Amino acid sequence: MKYFIKTFGCQQNVADSERVEAALTARGMKKAKNYNDADYIVINTCMVRESAENRVYGLVNNLSKLPSKKRSPFRRKIIVTGCMTGLAVRDKTGKFLRKIKEAMPAVDEFMPIEEVGFDHQLLRQDTESAWIPISNGCNNFCAYCVVPFTRGREISRPYEDIIKEAKALKAKRYKNITLLGQNVNSYGSDLIMHKKPIFVKHLGRYRIPTLFPYLLDDIAKLGFDKVDFISSNPWDFSDELIDVIARNKNITRTVHLPVQSGDTNVLKRMNRWYNCDDYLDLVANLKFKIKNLKLTTDIIVGFPGETNEEFENTVKLCKKVGFQIAFIAQYSPRFGTAATKTMKDDVPHTVKEKRWQILENLINKPNLSIRTGKARISISSA
Ligand code: SF4
Repeated sequence: MKYFIKTFGCQQNVADSERVEAALTARGMKKAKNYNDADYIVINTCMVRESAENRVYGLVNNLSKLPSKKRSPFRRKIIVTGCMTGLAVRDKTGKFLRKIKEAMPAVDEFMPIEEVGFDHQLLRQDTESAWIPISNGCNNFCAYCVVPFTRGREISRPYEDIIKEAKALKAKRYKNITLLGQNVNSYGSDLIMHKKPIFVKHLGRYRIPTLFPYLLDDIAKLGFDKVDFISSNPWDFSDELIDVIARNKNITRTVHLPVQSGDTNVLKRMNRWYNCDDYLDLVANLKFKIKNLKLTTDIIVGFPGETNEEFENTVKLCKKVGFQIAFIAQYSPRFGTAATKTMKDDVPHTVKEKRWQILENLINKPNLSIRTGKARISISSA
């Protein structure tokens, strides 16, 4: 039997597909060259934008028309995994809340990614750089974001398992490591939570401290050339974390810090827990402590009710920070989110497009030499 995996979406999905591949290989399957050559097609899906979801429907439709595989005793199977099998489409009992199944009758199985686990030896194609997923899911419920519904609540992998995986990669002479999580720098909050947590005040709110600074420090000390992490949340970016980055020269100097909006009222409507001044203070602290720091970000334009003045505040913040790259998304309602349930998508498409263009010209055009293509939303936007 041969398998072929198609991955949509963020780096976390790419890492998840590596786990799917490891599980299929452990069952004795071989990798197919393409869809035609495969008996088992796995589609790892993304729901962060409507367009990503529509591409999955289109692909399944095309695959359903593929001729049968010559000389194979097996009927080709199509398996869908990833975000489109998560809680945004099913309830906790597994019942489908959306007509995803009806929209893709050719799919044989909808397999939640959690079923794959971390037990199989990964078959990494790259021999220098590797992803290590450290957590899955998110507890923050930003009003526009589908991640807490598709991925569920945040679950951190055991600390020792991650260190063990990193040490094994080091022994295989990997040079670059990227730690992955939808909200990577809140790693470990769930592990601490069960043990009488102490709350700490950061960016105006009380938070459970995270284990991420310790984990990052321990991994950096293993001696990789470069250690990266995505995606960080501003309100989990503690002073300890800044200090760890500052003192370990092999930790990235390009920090991805999604701001989403430069207007405090929009941030409130988005259920982001910092205001613009908090964000600028954090940036100032990062720049002060970390030499040669570069910042990248995620921004949503046209969030419900975003006025010209509110958008102008985002432009002002971007000018103050001087981002290297911004992944700019035009707001679109996602099923099940607070914004979809309680707010009207009232910013006209033409206005969203214009605002997108203004930020694109301001941030990304001048830095075109370091990136190509139209801005896209980055990993699940912590
Ligand atoms: S935007 Fe990021 S922090 Fe907010 S809910 Fe989504 S994944 Fe969590």
